[in-house]
Amino acid sequence: MSSPGKTRLVFLGPPGAGKGTQAASIADKLGVPHVSTGDILRAAVKADSPLGREAHRYMNAGQLVPDELVNRMVAERLTQADCTNGFLLDGFPRTLVQGRALEEALNKMKTALDAVISFDVSRQELIRRLTGRRACPECGANYHVESLKPKIEGICDRCGAKLVQRADDSLETVENRLEVYQRETADLIDYYRGQNLLKKVPGDLAIEEVQRRVLEALE
Ligand code: AMP
Repeated sequence: MSSPGKTRLVFLGPPGAGKGTQAASIADKLGVPHVSTGDILRAAVKADSPLGREAHRYMNAGQLVPDELVNRMVAERLTQADCTNGFLLDGFPRTLVQGRALEEALNKMKTALDAVISFDVSRQELIRRLTGRRACPECGANYHVESLKPKIEGICDRCGAKLVQRADDSLETVENRLEVYQRETADLIDYYRGQNLLKKVPGDLAIEEVQRRVLEALE
């Protein structure tokens, strides 16, 4: 399904808010690419590219990769042909500097964001989700040991690969990532509120219900 409505989107929210899960299915519904900076960076690390070698140490410590690296990576991605009619950015921007760089990149392309969806989830629930998360290293699908089990334990439903716990989903790193999010993203939320782009959606409901609310917010 393609949509003539809001298709240039940012999904904002702390790690574990369900951005990735929602972004994958909503991008599919809207017929736009799901652009996840976390996925692009993990692929670069896996391929051992220069970007991956640079990003690796920040990612493992739960810290943000430097703005210039990520800004360049996203600006390049958005000029690819599949982004012409829209895109869903997941995990970017994460700082005010990145938000401004995105605006500039879109200005150059003579376009602008249509909406920013912000997912709200309690800290306790975020920790439960992240430390119980299992990810597919091949296709990027996410599962949870209690609430989103694959059909066969430890195996990805989509591609059959063996699921792993991400190195940055350990309790200590998760606490650090949540702190980083609070510190870096607060200004960004105000920035988008000021531009009248921000739409808040509760992220602690059932996956289908959250999806319904996101689509409603985009109408
Ligand atoms: P995520 O999968 O979105 O949780 O991202 C995993 C890790 O990739 C983060 O903890 C950061 O180290 C890095 N990362 C992803 N997106 C960004 C971004 N927009 N800016 C800086 N670092 C990022």
